[in-house]
Amino acid sequence: MEKMDGKALSLLIETNIKNNVNDYVSKGYRNPKLVVLLIGDNPASVTYVKNKEKACQRVGIESDVIRMNSDVSTEDVLKVIHQLNRDNTVDGILVQLPIPKQLDVNQIIESLDPNKDVDGLHSINIAKLYANQDGFVPCTPRGIMTLLKHYNIEISGKHAVVIGRSALVGRPVAQLLLNENATVTVCHSKTRNLAQLTQLADIVVVAIGKDKFLTQEHIHHANAIIDVGINRVNDKLVGDVDYDALFDKVDYMTPVPGGVGPMTIVSLLENTMKSYGLSIKEN
Ligand code: NAP
Repeated sequence: MEKMDGKALSLLIETNIKNNVNDYVSKGYRNPKLVVLLIGDNPASVTYVKNKEKACQRVGIESDVIRMNSDVSTEDVLKVIHQLNRDNTVDGILVQLPIPKQLDVNQIIESLDPNKDVDGLHSINIAKLYANQDGFVPCTPRGIMTLLKHYNIEISGKHAVVIGRSALVGRPVAQLLLNENATVTVCHSKTRNLAQLTQLADIVVVAIGKDKFLTQEHIHHANAIIDVGINRVNDKLVGDVDYDALFDKVDYMTPVPGGVGPMTIVSLLENTMKSYGLSIKEN
């Protein structure tokens, strides 16, 4: 089994982005800029946002975090987003999810300029993904595809089983695999006989959030297993895959940590650069 080293690949991509930013700045262009809206004080969200800020700093992308109280109204969030949409110096806008329950998440996401929607959640970007057109793709699925391509994992004609159907991970990654001509099976909590399906898979993507969920009984022999899960067990971060049990049954596998996590963050930087490229062309 070869480990798919998301950490190392993300550092390689970061170097390219940093060079790219330096190139633009040396030609007199402004730095790219990402703005994150952090609503409330969910501890996991605070950590994720910090990691995103640090990654931006490493490559020369300016980052700004707008913090809002958890009792803010949808109207107040929309006002901020409208301002950011109009601001030509802002390339990417990201609303850190989840947001407090009183807020209308759909209305908030739909208010984003689709060309600044670096999380790829606006309905226009979802439609583009499903029509196989160029748009903004959610960061975790984008990172997974980059990893598969980097390790030359054949996708076309292969059977990919995706476990999980969230808007942020399962559904978009299934669509990206389909766009690359995989035969895709999407599984979820109501799926019966899951192991029978996963045993037929060449590529398995697990994104459910259950420690050691995917284990020996699920895999006959797979080409690649992508572990998206993040679970905290005894103060350690672990994925959804029983890594040691599957070691001999797969050619390539992502570790947790150091697999999909860093690829998600670097994909956010890539999406911000894409939006920056569009803005530089227009202005
Ligand atoms: P989510 O919105 O909670 O979705 C979980 C999905 O798993 C749902 O579709 C659910 O099915 C399915 N599921 C739950 N139990 C199942 C079971 N026993 N068998 C089959 N399917 C089952 O979660 P998410 O946002 O997609 O995230 C999934 C995991 O990935 C979490 O651990 C999250 O922390 C992690 N994550 C990691 C990254 C990263 O950068 N590494 C990024 C995003 C998420 P139903 O639809 O039927 O309920």
